[in-house]
Amino acid sequence: MKIIDGKATSAAIKAEIAAEVAEMTGRGERAPFLAAILVGHDGGSETYMANKVKACEACGFGSSLIRFDEDVTEERLLAEIDRLNKDPEVDGFIVQLPLPRHIDEQKVIEAIDPRKDVDGFHPINVGRLSIGLPCFRSATPAGILELLDRYGIETKGKHAVVLGRSNIVGKPVAAMLMQKAQPGDCTVTVCHSSTKNLKEIAAGADILIAALGRPGFVTEDMVKPGAVIIDVGTTLVDDPTRKSGKRLSGDVDFDHVAEKCSYITPVPGGVGPMTIAMLMKNTLLARNGKIY
Ligand code: NAP
Repeated sequence: MKIIDGKATSAAIKAEIAAEVAEMTGRGERAPFLAAILVGHDGGSETYMANKVKACEACGFGSSLIRFDEDVTEERLLAEIDRLNKDPEVDGFIVQLPLPRHIDEQKVIEAIDPRKDVDGFHPINVGRLSIGLPCFRSATPAGILELLDRYGIETKGKHAVVLGRSNIVGKPVAAMLMQKAQPGDCTVTVCHSSTKNLKEIAAGADILIAALGRPGFVTEDMVKPGAVIIDVGTTLVDDPTRKSGKRLSGDVDFDHVAEKCSYITPVPGGVGPMTIAMLMKNTLLARNGKIY
């Protein structure tokens, strides 16, 4: 069994991007610029945003963090999005989700110019993804495919089973894996809370992707010997042995499943660190006009 090291892979991607940006700026060209909008003061969102700003620095990007209080009106937020859409110095921008209840999240996502939508959440990017056109691919699923690619894992003709059908992980990763591409070319089954025989379906997977948010859900009996296991789950669970009293848990019972599979992503240090690296990659693509 091999551990798929997302932390090291993410660091390698960021170093590759930094080298490309150094070349660009060496030629006198402007560095890529990512803007981020943060509404409210949620601890988790603050940490994600701080990490994104740090990643921009590591890649040589310019960045700005635009903050609004929790009670900002939808109109004000949409006006800021309009300003960023029109700003020629901003290559891409993101709005940290979730947003407060009084703001229509879908309206906000659809207000972003798809050419600057480096999170890949706009329906135009999602639609282009589903029919195999160039687009900004959402970062977590794109990170999963990048890991499969960089570890030389054969995907063509394999049965991939995706557990979870969210718009940010399950659906897009299923769409990516079914494309006629490498990595891709899989036969894909998507399971969710209404799926019958989920255990049997999972046990037939050559590649099993768990994106449920249910700690330890995937047990040894649900895994085919030699399968590739990708654990997207990140849930904070109680752990009295830790100083903080908490630890991050994946959706896979790692200790037992690891013995049975060929490759596995740990939590933390697997899929998680790839998300920011792929956001940086999308921003570089936006700067280079490589998608639109
Ligand atoms: P989500 O929106 O809550 O979706 C969960 C999906 O799992 C739903 O489709 C749900 O089915 C399905 N599900 C839940 N319990 C199930 C069960 N017992 N049996 C079968 N299906 C079940 O979650 P998400 O946003 O995709 O996130 C999933 C996990 O990945 C979370 O732990 C999240 O923190 C993590 N995550 C990590 C990253 C990262 O590492 N960067 C990024 C995104 C998400 P229904 O559709 O039928 O309700």
